[in-house]
Amino acid sequence: MHETSMKAVMLYGVKNLKIEKVPIPRLEQNEVLVKIRAATTCGTDLKIFQRGYVSQVIKLPTIFGHEWAGEIVDLDPNINWLEKGMRIRAGNSAPCLRCRMCEKGKFNLCENMIWLWGAYAEYIKVPARMVRVNLQRIPAHVSYEEAALTEPLACVLHGVEEANVKLGDTVAIIGAGPIGLLHLLTVKRLGVERVLMIDLVEERLEFAQELGADETINGRNEDAVKRVKELTNGYGADVVIEAVGLPSTWEQALRIVRKGGTVLEFGGCPPGSEIRISTDLLHYGEVTVLGTFHTTPIHFRKALQLIASRTVDVKPLITRKMRLEQLQEAFELLTTSKREIKIAIIP
Ligand SMILES: [Zn+2]
Ligand SMILES: [Zn+2]
Repeated sequence: MHETSMKAVMLYGVKNLKIEKVPIPRLEQNEVLVKIRAATTCGTDLKIFQRGYVSQVIKLPTIFGHEWAGEIVDLDPNINWLEKGMRIRAGNSAPCLRCRMCEKGKFNLCENMIWLWGAYAEYIKVPARMVRVNLQRIPAHVSYEEAALTEPLACVLHGVEEANVKLGDTVAIIGAGPIGLLHLLTVKRLGVERVLMIDLVEERLEFAQELGADETINGRNEDAVKRVKELTNGYGADVVIEAVGLPSTWEQALRIVRKGGTVLEFGGCPPGSEIRISTDLLHYGEVTVLGTFHTTPIHFRKALQLIASRTVDVKPLITRKMRLEQLQEAFELLTTSKREIKIAIIP
């Protein structure tokens, strides 16, 4: 490594991105420096772009982006299981493995989680703990773009496992964006009977159908709750997955589940949101309602394995490739276009 600076996209505020030259992060003990080969856009990144903040703990300006894959260009010589030139993916979180949550196996809820942002840049430095618990080699036949989708798929696998989807189930998914579509691809592989996909945008529903949705329901043109009931002989779906992140769709999910069924509220709502749940639904209806947040190192591993085996073929979700310099344009496209799902940013 002779270069000392790299191109990176800095977020200054609402819809305000600038490409800049910044120092390449310096390696410390047990760390790895990676040249990013692909970073994929994600709903979270889009929210950050539209609202202009990352979280209370990260200060602007900042580099963001968290789904990436690349090639090792430098590493601490103490790490004997990796070497320069290896194709890897890592991040975006690493639990401590020591706190009460980790002790209970709830690694996604770790009290001392470290997070890694900074994928919209030429290089990224992987912290020591992340090298240890959340870094994998990418099999040769898997592209960098596909490997970058390990993170969202890992979140979906965690959710689907918690929702306890069973063979023969009818699953309703609210939201045909990237996360809803990843749920669709995943539950189809679990041997469900049917997947009913609900959205307000026709183009998205058409795409969901191409990816295997059995029924699509456009909530703009018809009463989605009524339609799900019709399609399930009045019972409702066995499992409902909300993949939008609005209190109104969280509540809609409760109206389309059958007695004894499960509702997975997956989409993150604006902070401070609340929903109403009928006690009848939980008591007489025995409905299980659960939320899931993020994912664990175990699911990151499984996700990359399922991508590599093509059990979950994520390739169709990457609808476009753009350069780092075009990131602003990419997010504007994601805001306006009805056809874009994930854009791979290539530095
Ligand atoms: Zn993501
Ligand atoms: Zn922990």
